Amino acid sequence: MPVQRTLSIIKPDAVAKNVIGDIIRRFEENGLSVAAMRMTLLTPAEAGRFYAVHAERPFYGDLCSFMSSGPVLAMVLEGKNAVKLNRELMGATNPKEAEAGTIRADHADSIDANAVHGSDSAENAATEISFFFAGLDIQS
Ligand code: ADP
Ligand code: MG
Repeated sequence: MPVQRTLSIIKPDAVAKNVIGDIIRRFEENGLSVAAMRMTLLTPAEAGRFYAVHAERPFYGDLCSFMSSGPVLAMVLEGKNAVKLNRELMGATNPKEAEAGTIRADHADSIDANAVHGSDSAENAATEISFFFAGLDIQS
């Protein structure tokens, strides 16, 4: 499996809980490295653009409000099999279904406030990374 990049976002709920360090530790201890990092407060419109793929879903409005409710920490993670590995460390979307020991099992309160985002394919990772980062700001 080649070295890949994926986009991770620590969502407003996890930033507010002060667990940024715990989440990044899990990435680093499992073979992922931070290649770029940026804390930002999204506007609802920016959150809407990022999640445009979900525009027709009933939860889209709430998702955009939530993602713009406080600062987020966007990161590029790099490592072997990074897309899938990050998804495994995150756990299922609904924390009630997330495996024990995953980020969402340990830090998410609900399917809305579920602590982290992670790209779901290498192709989407490239699009999502370019939403937050210019190439010059990503280190290998
Ligand atoms: P994931 O973040 O695991 O990739 P999705 O891409 O399906 O999940 O959904 C994006 C985000 O939208 C989820 O992380 C969650 O915050 C929110 N979401 C998804 N499904 C629901 C739902 N049924 N009700 C409320 N929010 C949801
Ligand atoms: Mg998704």
